[in-house]
Amino acid sequence: MSIAQNVAAIKADIEKAALCCGRDPKEILLCAATKMNDADAVRQAIAAGVDCCGENRVQELTQKLSENAYTGAPVHFIGHLQTNKVKQVVGKVDLIQSVDRLKLLECIQAEAAKQGIIQDILLEINVGEEASKSGFAMDDILPLAEKMADFPNVRLRGLMAIPPICENSGDNDKFFLKIHRLAVDIRAKKYDNVWVDILSMGMSGDYEDAIRCGSTMIRVGTAIFGARNYNK
Ligand SMILES: *Cc1c(COP(=O)(O)O)cnc(C)c1O
Repeated sequence: MSIAQNVAAIKADIEKAALCCGRDPKEILLCAATKMNDADAVRQAIAAGVDCCGENRVQELTQKLSENAYTGAPVHFIGHLQTNKVKQVVGKVDLIQSVDRLKLLECIQAEAAKQGIIQDILLEINVGEEASKSGFAMDDILPLAEKMADFPNVRLRGLMAIPPICENSGDNDKFFLKIHRLAVDIRAKKYDNVWVDILSMGMSGDYEDAIRCGSTMIRVGTAIFGARNYNK
């Protein structure tokens, strides 16, 4: 299957999953997780109609930006970001999805202020409380959202989560639903500097479940590009 065929198939799945639970398919954006795929593959995915691209590594982001790989689609950062690399990401991407600790939020604020811009971000939640994963605890999110006015150069646009790897369809529903409820709670508070309209959850193995549970953005790599070759 070509990248174009894969994207078309995923879009058909999105439409079906959305309609099944009474949602408008247009509410759900497809973010291509492009790690380890080259500029040509990224261009094919954009031509096939993905809504945005998500990059994991600063070095790959910088390389593909220099090759104009993302022309025609917004680019997001979705990987673990070291504070000493914040400069290479702030202002270069439309959304930083993976803000996983306070120190990083502070560094993004400082860099965005220096550049005189407002950087859109998501807060990443370690919803499965896994030691191997970074991210805020669920309980940290509301108090932090309340304090977003202290970060005037950062706009909180929503939440991102990578739940545990699941064996069966439906295994992660409890996590997706928890995040959806949290987003509803945050929205109800109407905090300054906070528009929680994006819920980034669902990957190749569980995006239909995530859509059923309220996701507005799925991040899909393998199902678009095929298995990643980590030996390359
Ligand atoms: C790689 C990656 C994805 C996509 O994973 P697949 O299982 O290949 O669809 C999604 N989100 C993040 C943060 C990733 O690093």
